[in-house]
Amino acid sequence: MSENTWVQASDEVWDVVVVGGGVAGLSAALTLARVRRSVLVIDAGEPRNAPAAATHNLLSRDGIAPLELLRLGREEVLSYGGRVESGRVSGLRREGAELVVTTEDGGRAPARRVLVTTGLVDELPAIPGLAERWGRDVLHCPYCHGWEVRDGAVGVLATGPAAFHQALMFRQLSPEVTLFLHSGGDPTEEQWEQLAALGIDVVDGTVGALEVDDRDRLAGVRLASGRSVAVDALVVAPRFVARAGFLADAGLAVTEHPMGIGGQLVTEPGGFTGVDGVWAAGNVTDLMAPVPAAAASGVQAAAAINIDLIGADARAAVVARAGRASDASRPEPGSGDRR
Ligand SMILES: Cc1cc2nc3c(=O)[nH]c(=O)nc-3n(C[C@H](O)[C@H](O)[C@H](O)COP(=O)(O)OP(=O)(O)OC[C@H]3O[C@@H](n4cnc5c(N)ncnc54)[C@H](O)[C@@H]3O)c2cc1C
Repeated sequence: MSENTWVQASDEVWDVVVVGGGVAGLSAALTLARVRRSVLVIDAGEPRNAPAAATHNLLSRDGIAPLELLRLGREEVLSYGGRVESGRVSGLRREGAELVVTTEDGGRAPARRVLVTTGLVDELPAIPGLAERWGRDVLHCPYCHGWEVRDGAVGVLATGPAAFHQALMFRQLSPEVTLFLHSGGDPTEEQWEQLAALGIDVVDGTVGALEVDDRDRLAGVRLASGRSVAVDALVVAPRFVARAGFLADAGLAVTEHPMGIGGQLVTEPGGFTGVDGVWAAGNVTDLMAPVPAAAASGVQAAAAINIDLIGADARAAVVARAGRASDASRPEPGSGDRR
């Protein structure tokens, strides 16, 4: 057996292989391990919110560091007999009755069912220095970071129609909001009226760069014209793209979100993808899901997979029982019984 062949000691296939060990994947693995399913999580270790210092809106854990939350989650999965391995899954295909998950470094894990919880990539506007500040003072979500920037000078970078709504959302948190029109197009007449009535400044022109102070904090936005506007935080609207390229051989691909905000896997309620044996949960199938919702969808998918396995086990037991009954009615070799 190769070092990277994650078969079980008994040589049986895993009940479930979970691809991705963020909150969705670990919540699913915990649920499955607690109903005594054999479960392997393969995780590349790059959760989407890793750049942020804290996780908010998670009841009783508000403020916990994203990587600490996952460390605790892995401990819980391991305590029930689940297994968590580092690796990047590069393929998924069916081989007879099994699904086989393969990794970039040659690992291979056979499974009865597979749950995909690989999250998404935030594609950021291409402004020099912006990506480096993502999750710190370049932000997107008022629920995740709004409290932390309350009453500060908040800029909103327009790259599409969502910017107007972001400006209104952050205006609830600070009286000092500036909307940079950048590449977002002009607001409608009604929007201009609302922006003016709420005291939101609007700055025309393309943003060329971000300004950072000597304590590595965002200080301002510099326009291509050379004008600088002081801000403490900049709100952007990334394009959200599900991490699902490795599913092509399994016949799965991302579909454009109805709101035009990115691409995701489409699943039934409970996470079934429509491909035999394959489920998905978390941001890979719900671009807007925050941490508690991603965790909840992992639990729901785990329950749906468990029900599916229970049905398969029960049908297999009936077949095995019928086989035993027909064996018992057969004469023993050499018994002379010719009934
Ligand atoms: C900057 C920022 C801050 C945020 N703050 C908050 C907050 O305060 N509160 C909140 O509720 N939400 C917050 N969110 C949203 C939060 O990040 C998501 O809700 C959450 O990460 C979704 O969990 P997930 O398990 O679906 O995906 P992820 O957390 O992204 O986990 C997916 C895992 O799968 C792994 N993976 C990907 N591809 C592969 C592969 N091919 N093989 C193996 N493993 C793979 C990744 O490395 C990662 O470990 C924030 C988001 C951002 C961007």
